[in-house]
Amino acid sequence: MATLTERMKALPKIDLHVHLDGSVKPELIMELAAEQGKKLPTSNPEELLRFMQADAHCDSLARYLETFHFVVGFLQTAEALEKAALQLVEQAAEQNIIYIEVRYAPQLHREQGLTIDEVLEAVLKGLREGERKYDVTARCIAICLRGHSEEQNLEVIEAASRYLNRGVVAVDLAGSEADYPPEQFEKVFELAKQLHLPITIHAGEAGGAGNVGTAVNRLGAGRIGHGVRVMENPDMLELVRALQIPLELCPASNIQTKAIESWEQYPFRELFDQGVKVTVNTDNLTVSNTNLTKEFEALQSRFRFTDEELCRIVRNAIDAVFLQDEEKAELRARMNLMLEKWQCDATNLSAP
Ligand SMILES: [Zn+2]
Repeated sequence: MATLTERMKALPKIDLHVHLDGSVKPELIMELAAEQGKKLPTSNPEELLRFMQADAHCDSLARYLETFHFVVGFLQTAEALEKAALQLVEQAAEQNIIYIEVRYAPQLHREQGLTIDEVLEAVLKGLREGERKYDVTARCIAICLRGHSEEQNLEVIEAASRYLNRGVVAVDLAGSEADYPPEQFEKVFELAKQLHLPITIHAGEAGGAGNVGTAVNRLGAGRIGHGVRVMENPDMLELVRALQIPLELCPASNIQTKAIESWEQYPFRELFDQGVKVTVNTDNLTVSNTNLTKEFEALQSRFRFTDEELCRIVRNAIDAVFLQDEEKAELRARMNLMLEKWQCDATNLSAP
């Protein structure tokens, strides 16, 4: 009989919320360091992980974000970005993910003079190579950062629009939510709306539930990154439920950043039962030491989601993908066949 891990690995999946810089493997950092002539604090990949993972003492989003600086330093060339993007598609394929939206902040990768278009091109090249090699559909989301100037963020929106539906599918806002409320970014996302860019916003993670309302009503978010704190405010809960705004929940990460105190308090079951369109995602494979199989395992073992319910959560993700109608319909058809097969296999395996 298949173990829980084997069954969850076999479940066909979608990851809508995964950061490129938070998901690089230590072996790739070693390869990049050698190529770039940079010295590392250790030559052991296991030890290198200490610099790339949020540890047990992580107590806030601010502390969690510190781990990114180390990795971003190695992702300043087109070759490095391409390799990181390719590696992320490979990691998706290993977990039987058939569609992935990879996000990153282009402005963080320009320290050595890359133009914003060169950054976007490099990531897209890696993703396309991954698509060919691993039979995963891979798209990307360009992130504006809360700590960046309006000018820098407007530049991201303009660049994303040049690549819209050529690999880029949406724009996002990330960074320290507690320090920068979403209303400060109205002008940036006004431009995104004018350019018909789909929008997702990190909100209701390190900031209160009210930020989810601002993200939806004033910034035009069609999806919310995390949004797990909507449970704190019945009006916000009703807003995302009534409008069926998908929440990109990332349980392992949300517990590390203390958006939610513990697994026992994580409201995945409550949100699902109240009819909110919930999805489950990884956020950062390396920083959070997670993968999508582990996240689905937790849904079944900790919150008693049935196989049927897990399929509904995967279908929620299909509804939420930032693809155009035709591509979305193709993905839905492919996924439906795979889900039916998975459920059928699961039934056969559990039969006496
Ligand atoms: Zn995120």
